Amino acid sequence: MIPAEFDYVAPESLDAALAALREGGEDAKVLAGGHSLVPLMKLRLAAPTLLVDLRRVPGLTGIQRANGTVRIGAMTRHHAVATAPELGLAAKAAATIADQQVRNRGTIGGTIAHGDPASDLPAVLLALEGSVMVRGEREREIAATDLFQDYLTTAIADGEIVTEVRLPAGDGWGAGYAKFNRRVEDWAMVAVCASVRRAADGSCADVRVGLTNMSGVPLRANAVEQALRGGGLDAQAIAAAAGLAAEGTDPPEDLNASSDYKRHLARVLCRRALEEAAAAA
Ligand SMILES: Cc1cc2nc3c(=O)[nH]c(=O)nc-3n(C[C@H](O)[C@H](O)[C@H](O)COP(=O)(O)OP(=O)(O)OC[C@H]3O[C@@H](n4cnc5c(N)ncnc54)[C@H](O)[C@@H]3O)c2cc1C
Repeated sequence: MIPAEFDYVAPESLDAALAALREGGEDAKVLAGGHSLVPLMKLRLAAPTLLVDLRRVPGLTGIQRANGTVRIGAMTRHHAVATAPELGLAAKAAATIADQQVRNRGTIGGTIAHGDPASDLPAVLLALEGSVMVRGEREREIAATDLFQDYLTTAIADGEIVTEVRLPAGDGWGAGYAKFNRRVEDWAMVAVCASVRRAADGSCADVRVGLTNMSGVPLRANAVEQALRGGGLDAQAIAAAAGLAAEGTDPPEDLNASSDYKRHLARVLCRRALEEAAAAA
């Protein structure tokens, strides 16, 4: 399919990109990797009149760590995240995104701004209690808990650009990621991310669990976390907690799976992700 006609600019500074967005009004869109936006345009599900390409804007790529926080530039490609093992859970999740071609183009800022509940990194950001920095008329930080508002809807306003994704450095945490899809390059039918920190006696000091594609937004598996926190991390405790993974979820039925099957997948994948995280912690 051929997209509707649009104008295109590739500004060379963030201020120029923000100005172009402002001038373009509500039908102007940021273009990052284009791997979600361009397919939507080709299907005519999106018809922006202006694309503001961020590829020439300096300072939006790279991974830096300071004071216990990892800062990932919004234009950092999935491949760079997937091949940075120090990113722990985010690296594991990014490595499962589609295929190498998609990972070479898609960006962390794009996938977070797009807010697709079937995408891998939004649930990781939520579970790890990360945030995004955005620039519009002013700079502000949006916590992941406030970010994902509805299906494909985030708290990022028109005219704002995500500049950075922030995650806590995962020192002392073990990470596990379990995803189920029919073909390796497909989006998750369901995916579960888990991060576990052990106390000195080996018990569970803290745990974070995120669910992908179990609702219109990424979710935190609160019941699972509560069941594990402060207790054991043996196979029995993990299996019992993982049995609660579908609590409070509302998975939409789709061509691949019924809601009940997704709930079943969440429980199975939660156990696998937790076992992997506990073994690494
Ligand atoms: C065949 C295929 C398979 C895929 N499989 C998976 C998968 O398994 N898992 C997965 O997670 N993803 C998958 N994706 C999606 C991929 O990860 C995309 O790259 C990602 O969703 C969007 O990132 P992007 O950089 O391409 O953003 P774009 O497509 O350029 O933009 C997406 C949206 O975000 C906005 N946006 C982008 N950057 C910013 C910014 N910095 N500030 C504000 N707004 C911004 C755009 O305006 C647009 O609305 C797949 C894509 C394809 C084509």
